[in-house]
Amino acid sequence: MERLVIIGSGPAGLTAAIYAARANLAPLVLAGYQYGGQLMLTTEVENYPGFPNGIMGPELMETFRAQADRFGATILNEDASHVDFSRRPFLVVAADREVEADAVIVATGASARWLGIPGEEGLRGRGISTCATCDGAFFKERHIVVAGGGDSAMEEALFLTRFGSKVTVIHRRDRLRASKIMADRAMANPKIDFIWNTVIEEALGEFHLQKLVLRDVPTGGRYELPVDALFIAIGHDPNTELFKGQLELDAHGYIVSSDGVHTSVPGVFVGGDVWDVRYKQAVTAAGMGCKASIEAERYLEELDAERAAGGLAAAFR
Ligand code: NAP
Repeated sequence: MERLVIIGSGPAGLTAAIYAARANLAPLVLAGYQYGGQLMLTTEVENYPGFPNGIMGPELMETFRAQADRFGATILNEDASHVDFSRRPFLVVAADREVEADAVIVATGASARWLGIPGEEGLRGRGISTCATCDGAFFKERHIVVAGGGDSAMEEALFLTRFGSKVTVIHRRDRLRASKIMADRAMANPKIDFIWNTVIEEALGEFHLQKLVLRDVPTGGRYELPVDALFIAIGHDPNTELFKGQLELDAHGYIVSSDGVHTSVPGVFVGGDVWDVRYKQAVTAAGMGCKASIEAERYLEELDAERAAGGLAAAFR
């Protein structure tokens, strides 16, 4: 029996763990086999406050983890495989254990979609990225390509014009999915050009991205385009498979919450990119993890008070 289980170990989950541990809740963190979240897949992080010279993503997450550990959080590199939020206490099943908990914080994040083309994996962090805010500044006066035709792609392309000499949006169709205002803004920007009806088939480069192999869909013709960077902006998938039927999710699978903290089940809180479709930054996720932890603490205090008074909640045990 745990007071608080935190599922996920990116900036939101581990910040929640630091706060909960310092509130003497001794949280159990199911960090996942691939712990640390999306920052484990990035190289240098230059926009996390407190690190004026930047810090490598994985190193930053190790510092989060060490800080949670220092105050008594138990962190297990196990994936939660099943939850039951319809009963009290809540049930969370991980690899080798079934855990009951009075409160749960869900901070499982979202995963950026990748193209899944040859060369992509090896060149991640070497010219290929899914985060313009994180990596755009590395490509000053370079030719940058953005893949995608939605609002994210337009937003990334517009942002990247601050750095690149030229930004080329490559979209697989002849029309954008983006909202009109974003599309108009991108199309009006003299630094942005578009390659339509085109699929990126391969990324080439020995140490760093150098070329993309493109296929023109109508003709089937293939050709190479020399580039310095590729930002993939074809959407994110929230990691919520586990919560289907347990928590209210929106049409895209994100957890529904009116305030970014409370979910459809009292006692289950949310933080970070699993809710946040808009900002998706390490620092915003950390802030949300903090809020979720403080709300969980208050919820547990109320539960204790009800138990002490012999109220309904006493039946939870
Ligand atoms: P999205 O709207 O789903 O758009 C994804 C884009 O990527 C589409 O153009 C899609 O092409 C393309 N795509 C998907 N898979 C692909 C693949 N394998 N290869 C090549 N292209 C692929 O995703 P999003 O742009 O991340 O936006 C998600 C949500 O957040 C939307 O509701 C959006 O409005 C919102 N959002 C809003 C803002 C804002 O208002 N400032 C900013 C960002 C996001 P097709 O068009 O052919 O399907």
